[in-house]
Amino acid sequence: MQTENIGNQLQDEDPTTGLYRREVVFSKLNEILQHKDQSPFVILIEIHRFKQINDGIGPLIGDRVIKGFSKRLLKAAPDDAIVGRMGGDGFAVIVSTKNDIDDLVSTIQEVSHRPFSLGGNVVVVNSSIGISVGPDDGENAYDLIRAADIALHLIDRKSSAVNYFDKEMLDKAQSLQLLENDLRYSVVLEQPDLLNALSSNQFEVYYQPQISTITKLPIGVEALLRWKHPERGFVSPEEFIPVAEEIGVINLLGAWVLKKACADIAHIRTTTNFLDLTVSVNVSPKQLEDISSFVTQVKKALLEFNLPPEALKLEITENTVFNSKRSEILTLAKSDCALFLDDYGTGYSSMNVLRSFPFENIKMDKVFVSDLFVESNDETEKGEKMICAFQSLCNALDLKTTIEGVETKEQAEFLSNLGCDVLQGFYFSKPIPHNELLNYLENIEEGCRNV
Ligand code: C2E
Ligand code: MG
Ligand code: MG
Repeated sequence: MQTENIGNQLQDEDPTTGLYRREVVFSKLNEILQHKDQSPFVILIEIHRFKQINDGIGPLIGDRVIKGFSKRLLKAAPDDAIVGRMGGDGFAVIVSTKNDIDDLVSTIQEVSHRPFSLGGNVVVVNSSIGISVGPDDGENAYDLIRAADIALHLIDRKSSAVNYFDKEMLDKAQSLQLLENDLRYSVVLEQPDLLNALSSNQFEVYYQPQISTITKLPIGVEALLRWKHPERGFVSPEEFIPVAEEIGVINLLGAWVLKKACADIAHIRTTTNFLDLTVSVNVSPKQLEDISSFVTQVKKALLEFNLPPEALKLEITENTVFNSKRSEILTLAKSDCALFLDDYGTGYSSMNVLRSFPFENIKMDKVFVSDLFVESNDETEKGEKMICAFQSLCNALDLKTTIEGVETKEQAEFLSNLGCDVLQGFYFSKPIPHNELLNYLENIEEGCRNV
């Protein structure tokens, strides 16, 4: 038990775990900071994807995971540590700097990655850790915990990691906050009629051609969202999509992209000779959370623009596969639109994913192509061998391949000779707006480009 005074015990403890409650952690940390000779470490730990674990195995087992996790933290922490529960899946360990922090953090990481065996389920959790040290990173409990929280939330969620706060992080967090405000304003507040606003205003869908290595002609295009902010100019989707996911506007944006992409591809199929051109739309994991309404959205868009399901491809990344329920992906596959696995090779690169989900096409990430024939070093040579092995693997599994990021003729020839099915990259075209795509396709009709 952590509380010295039995009378206060129940008020101070989180009822599920017996750890200190959030408010108690704050007040105890403030007490420590009042002593000028004390410089505490604040270690914040957050379990990844706890909501999915909870939804997947049920809240009773979810609670047992939290209890088990808390017990392990208590055991790992020194006797004089303050160990608290800061929220559903967040914990704090506060220790004085006389402890060996690296040692403690490795122990916390080690115990938190050990699987839990509960009621016939084996549950493996991952966690991230953010650390701040007082009084340098904050003179009161609020600032110090916030500093550790900033460090924690700047960790790339694809990996389990430890991040120590530094002052530059504050600037980064503040500029993320500003971006978040702008995005919220642009998407939601400014416009009462969102869908019209999106099409006439700051958002636009660009298209990047995908070239068949057999016919040397475009067989599809990928729809890529663009945001042109009045003051910021173009903001990269890599910057704003994670924010849109975080603040919950990705579903609105995603629904709009889907509809616009279907409208534009239907127009192309009826006004050019590219009667079978397809469009690939990137799908965020958030859109899959309510899978039945997403599938309805897809069907409605196809119906509205009189498109067969083959006209639309849905791209999901490996990380989406891992962050979604298996049943969600399988339901999506039943929507009749083919699934593309995007950015393969940069996430978990699990071969099991290739085997257990019905993907039609695997898109290898552009990092493997970017140096090919541009630079010659050990990494480039390995990249080349990996593309060969990737193509053989997909051939064996009867999966089609798309290679992203093709920028030169040599790369295109090499990949084409290797038997890759589809190529995409700046060599053929950058992502372009709908009207430029029409010109591009018209020019191709006049003289085919050689791959
Ligand atoms: P992605 O789906 O893998 O898209 C391919 C990215 O590679 C695009 O970046 C494209 O412009 C870039 N690219 C294509 N060819 C080349 C090349 O030859 N060289 C180089 N250096 N880059 C090339 P973009 O448009 O910045 O999009 C980045 C990511 O943002 C996309 O990666 C996708 O994950 C996400 N994204 C874009 N639009 C949407 C959307 O509508 N919804 C969702 N959920 N995500 C989107
Ligand atoms: Mg994509
Ligand atoms: Mg990609």
